[in-house]
Amino acid sequence: MRLLLLGFVAAAAALAMPARALDIRAVRVSASPQGTRLVMDLSARVEPRLMTLKHPDRVVIDVAGARLASSARRAPAGAGAIRRVRMAHSASGERIVLDLSRSMRAKSFLSVPNSRYGYRLVVELAGADAGAAAREGGSAAAAAADSSPGAEVPSQPSVQAPVRIEHARAAARDLIIAIDAGHGGEDPGAIGMHGTREKDVTLAIARDLEQQVDAEPGMRAVLTRDGDYFVPLRDRMRRARAQQADLFVSIHADSIRDRSVDGSSVYILSQHGATTEAARWLAERQNAADLIGGVSLEDKGDMLASVLLDLSQTASLTASHVAAEHVLRQLNLVGEVRKPLVQQAGFMVLKSPDIPSMLVETAYISNPAEELRLRNGAHQEKLAAAIHLGLRNYFYSDPPAGTRIAELAQGGARPELATAERHTGG
Ligand SMILES: [Zn+2]
Repeated sequence: MRLLLLGFVAAAAALAMPARALDIRAVRVSASPQGTRLVMDLSARVEPRLMTLKHPDRVVIDVAGARLASSARRAPAGAGAIRRVRMAHSASGERIVLDLSRSMRAKSFLSVPNSRYGYRLVVELAGADAGAAAREGGSAAAAAADSSPGAEVPSQPSVQAPVRIEHARAAARDLIIAIDAGHGGEDPGAIGMHGTREKDVTLAIARDLEQQVDAEPGMRAVLTRDGDYFVPLRDRMRRARAQQADLFVSIHADSIRDRSVDGSSVYILSQHGATTEAARWLAERQNAADLIGGVSLEDKGDMLASVLLDLSQTASLTASHVAAEHVLRQLNLVGEVRKPLVQQAGFMVLKSPDIPSMLVETAYISNPAEELRLRNGAHQEKLAAAIHLGLRNYFYSDPPAGTRIAELAQGGARPELATAERHTGG
């Protein structure tokens, strides 16, 4: 879910773009137990605008510069949560309105051409976020809007009349990496012999990693904390979910009584941790608005909900493991790896059932030599670079569909296999 104001900014940016000639060749609606979706076959790439309106519940999709091909003039029949589909042409393009039988969340993505299909815009509807719906109850402008497709949306959206506007994901989306600097505020984490606090080191490395990730085409970083303050563990997961993170990486520095121990380690969630977390999600699903892997568990029976959750967790753990191995390999090139295999533990921050997650113990702050290196800016950058390249290699080796990395990989961009040449010295 994007912030309201960001939605306006994005919508304004989309409006400022020149209109292109574009045909909508077909519009289809389908419903399955996983949800309802609308698919449009297109002659070229689009940046649609998607709006979710209430009273009555509907989704408006504006495709600027588009026109319906004659084969697509007839609106498809409704299915699933879509009661009816309406289409209207205006000077600026095509508007497609989905009248819903109940409040739903909508998201869209563009699927790039393959051997069978050309560009396709997919709009997916999933169970509504009940909390958000209640908060947005007073959407007067939306309620007052004429129900004919041509006049669906207030022409001047304002912050006083909060219509939820979600800019559709750009044609090929960026991967979002949630970077979690361990500890913070009243929780200093481990403290080294020279007084170095883990919370300062983790934030410095997190910021370096943020810069490197943001400089990488097709990736974007979000920090779960960007200052010296306390963030509860569950809030860190929530922040990553709210940003629809593709991957979560928590940064720490280890500590142990034996001061000779050194090296880095990478952890993913243990099976036991996943099982206990599943029990919690199932128990709380009635009042949880979260979607797991884009699916709501709220309206599912016990058996189905637990199967869906299990599938999601298994997929996430597998992905976490592969990604963690890539990171571990890069850390090995920067310095000593304490444990050569990916470790598993019940760390709370790793428990998101549908976001591959890892925790990197960058070094032992309890080891005096490593403590001094952890304070060193150049070494912090090296550690960040190792994590960055590990993630880069992971995503290039198996790029998620619909992402810019997938396009770049297809266009011949290659993962880097080693940090050795790029990060020597310092
Ligand atoms: Zn820690």
